[in-house]
Amino acid sequence: MNRFERGALAALLIVIVVIAALAPAGIGFLFAQRSQRQEEAARLNTVADAALVRAEDVTRRLSGALGEIGKVVAAPCSPPYLRELRRIALTHEQVRDAGAYDRDGRWQCSSLLGAVSAGMLDGLTLPPPDWRSRDGLVAWYGLARLPGGKISLVMGRNGFYIAADPSLYVDSLDTRAGPASGVAVINTEVSRVIATTPATDVAAILAVYRAAPRVRDCSPYVVRRSVSMPLAVVVSAPHQTLRQRLRALPWAWLLGGVAAGIAFAGWAAFFIVRRLSPRGQLSDAVRRHQFIVAYQPIVDLATRRCVGAEALVRWKYHDRIVRPDHFIPLAEHRGLIQAITDQVLDTVLLELGEFLKRYPEYYVSVNLSAPDLTTHRFLDVLGPAIARQGVRPQQIRIEATERSFLDADAAKEVISAFRQAGHAVYLDDFGTGYSSLSHLQTFRIDGLKIDKSFVDTIGQDAASSSVASHIIDMAATLDVQVIAEGIEREEQAAYLHARGAQFGQGWLFSAPLSAAEFIRYAGKTRGA
Ligand code: C2E
Ligand code: CA
Ligand code: CA
Repeated sequence: MNRFERGALAALLIVIVVIAALAPAGIGFLFAQRSQRQEEAARLNTVADAALVRAEDVTRRLSGALGEIGKVVAAPCSPPYLRELRRIALTHEQVRDAGAYDRDGRWQCSSLLGAVSAGMLDGLTLPPPDWRSRDGLVAWYGLARLPGGKISLVMGRNGFYIAADPSLYVDSLDTRAGPASGVAVINTEVSRVIATTPATDVAAILAVYRAAPRVRDCSPYVVRRSVSMPLAVVVSAPHQTLRQRLRALPWAWLLGGVAAGIAFAGWAAFFIVRRLSPRGQLSDAVRRHQFIVAYQPIVDLATRRCVGAEALVRWKYHDRIVRPDHFIPLAEHRGLIQAITDQVLDTVLLELGEFLKRYPEYYVSVNLSAPDLTTHRFLDVLGPAIARQGVRPQQIRIEATERSFLDADAAKEVISAFRQAGHAVYLDDFGTGYSSLSHLQTFRIDGLKIDKSFVDTIGQDAASSSVASHIIDMAATLDVQVIAEGIEREEQAAYLHARGAQFGQGWLFSAPLSAAEFIRYAGKTRGA
């Protein structure tokens, strides 16, 4: 993965994690808001129901008081009549004043101020009523020019009236359920506001009332119409500051959403990082069989003929080839190496099985790691696999480095089992470890591979180039074969051959090849 790809991936990761964190938090917030709105709507409905009951009750009481005046038998505005008016005004606590007016609306008398003759009502005339019912009831909404001077709601019939405080309609509403709502009572026949709570926007209330059938569920208004009277109430949600709203927000939802978001984002990050981590990608590669094998010819240094090949694994990662040095250590560390070894064997048998069966003189060397050398597992896989293909055990050889002898006793036992089964075993990278020599004494092996570092120095530095020569001498003493690795120059090949190394491998002869190229190469050196 190059820097650009890594940057793009990191950006994608951040975007995904942010979305994963925000989505549940956002949903939590929406639910919180919805639940808040539902609560608000339920509260408004309760207030509206109570307000309508109150408005109907007040109307009924005022009509009752008016009816009582109608039953007074004394002559209008006579002292007994006025006495009755005062009694009625006193017994009905909602009634502020009661009185009479003539056909032209001129004032005749008032329970508070007495008869016109007393002088104070002279010339006072009621304006045309704001509303007139079919059965002769009339009403004025918001009359100021009444005895007492206060704004009054006046109801009249047949020349007599009662006056009341309009706030009767809207006060004493229970606002314990929450912050005070705005309430307005409306006469539905003439669309006039009868009473409102203080500081209510009358024009806005009327507009809402007129739009009532279209008021949406989440509107901050509720309209209730009376079925028995031409009355309606409009309740508006209290105006709340942002802080009040935030305080009232159901935080449980919101916090739940945020917590879920964090958990989800954590999970997403973990999942993505795991998938994108080298280990996750390598596991994927094992699952998807993304490994290919290159075959580097091994040649007889005397005849320069090819005798076999070393199977070298490569990871085909998208359209790139990853070299084993970059993933074998990780695969060993993460317990994936055995699966890779198996896939290498499968590929070798698939690609070269026929070739090996046909030319028994060739062999393929397979590299094993420590876990492959601690149990018989690979041997148990190998035996039946080559038997199915008709490949002889001698044609599959094993390469093991010192690093793979972690459990020396187990390795010794497994190596001996491989040899007994007919597979030659080579000690790889010989001379690079600390105890190469002691291993030669402990393990019975068939050959050793002189590491490229010793071949590199041949012809350059007399002291270190003699190491290769010493190794070859020692191998002769122990009667094991020698394969020299990394031969790049003719001079090296000649030197090694002269010192007694039988086999060699390196770019001088051939780089690692595909199976088809290797078969061609082998044919060429055979002289076929
Ligand atoms: P190795 O077993 O020592 O393999 C020889 C390495 O030297 C190979 O590198 C090969 O391509 C390279 N080489 C061969 N001739 C020359 C040359 O003339 N000049 C230079 N500069 N290099 C040369 P490669 O394929 O990258 O393999 C690296 C190591 O990965 C191998 O070292 C081996 O230890 C390990 N490996 C490869 N395949 C497998 C496998 O299937 N299983 C396990 N466990 N390890 C493997
Ligand atoms: Ca090797
Ligand atoms: Ca080697």
